[in-house]
Amino acid sequence: MTETTSLAVTASATTTARAFGAPAATAPLEPLQIERRALGPKDVRIDIKFCGICHSDIHFTRGEWGEVPYPAIPGHEIAGVVAEVGADVTTYAPGDRVGVGCMVNSCRECENCAKGEEQYCLPGNTGTYGSVDRDGTPTYGGYSDHVVVDEDFVLRIPDGLELDVAAPLLCAGITTYSPLRHWGAGPGKRIAVVGLGGLGHMAVKLAKAMGAEVTVLSQSLRKKEDGLKLGADGYHATSDDATFDELAGRFDLIVNTVSAKLEIGRFLGLLKTDGALVNVGAPPEPLPVPVFSLLLQRRSFAGSAIGSIRETQEMLDFCAEHGIAAEIERISADQINDAWQRVLDSDVRYRFVIDNSTL
Ligand code: NAP
Ligand code: ZN
Ligand code: ZN
Repeated sequence: MTETTSLAVTASATTTARAFGAPAATAPLEPLQIERRALGPKDVRIDIKFCGICHSDIHFTRGEWGEVPYPAIPGHEIAGVVAEVGADVTTYAPGDRVGVGCMVNSCRECENCAKGEEQYCLPGNTGTYGSVDRDGTPTYGGYSDHVVVDEDFVLRIPDGLELDVAAPLLCAGITTYSPLRHWGAGPGKRIAVVGLGGLGHMAVKLAKAMGAEVTVLSQSLRKKEDGLKLGADGYHATSDDATFDELAGRFDLIVNTVSAKLEIGRFLGLLKTDGALVNVGAPPEPLPVPVFSLLLQRRSFAGSAIGSIRETQEMLDFCAEHGIAAEIERISADQINDAWQRVLDSDVRYRFVIDNSTL
């Protein structure tokens, strides 16, 4: 082997990452090692400092959404610092504070990619975990010490935001910001947020900062004090039938963040004429819709998935400008399995964030 060849091999070497993941659908998460692809000319290598725990990590890893390539290394609320950049990278430099959300690539050619909505890439965007990237390498998420990502899918974390509380913005933040913007949240609009978990608490903060009137619809009044502190104007329990009479026909927009099946018809009844109920919650079961609750008041039942890279950057800048970040409980790697159970028990206040130095 010539010297040139061996240098080329070194320059294109993959790197081994410490990670935490599940070897099978029913297995607890455990320490694992994975290979990250070699740094390409447009790639950024990021030392991951923090990673949020999204309920999607659980749906995915447990196989609730379909087949999973194990081992599964979840995590798509990544905040860290750039360690190294490829030769053609222009946007980032070592030391920059950056984030990665739910996608790490897209086809870049379809109609939606062309208009900057790569989250809706027609052949499918490349997920941060559980996908195969365009170069054929499997993607693994942020429960790991570093990640290699094309610079076009990296976000800049504004100076005013600490990395730990910024991490959840990369999924919970953008997933609620995008429908709030799309359906025109703002002054004079009445918005309800169903479920006060990771997404729900961000929806409350963001809708309030946009100037809307915000109401939380939670299973009980257990977290009412928190909800009001987060900025909600009203807080009601969905376990109380009176809630559905009292609030009938009240809202312009309802953002449903619930991770389980709900009786959608009851919630549609809370919308005004022309109101929209947008599902961001992603339970594996279908949600049956009684059509009369839609057609009699020309209501819409819609869905929304994360947000584009451009909109994610806009959301991060909006959060920095308005002093908004996630309410978090910082945990070490050995607490991940317990944290997952607490998410399943609706006992999260309001996002678990892994300190990746403990992996
Ligand atoms: P989370 O922190 O667990 O919050 C979900 C909340 O829903 C819970 O805190 C609870 O709020 C409520 N809830 C849970 N089980 C319920 C039940 N059986 N009946 C009624 N309410 C229930 O989860 P998350 O991380 O915010 O994620 C929420 C959902 O959004 C998940 O399905 C996730 O996969 C999905 N998601 C979708 C996107 C997207 O792009 N569309 C992105 C991220 C996440 P209360 O205690 O207040 O009732
Ligand atoms: Zn998520
Ligand atoms: Zn595309």
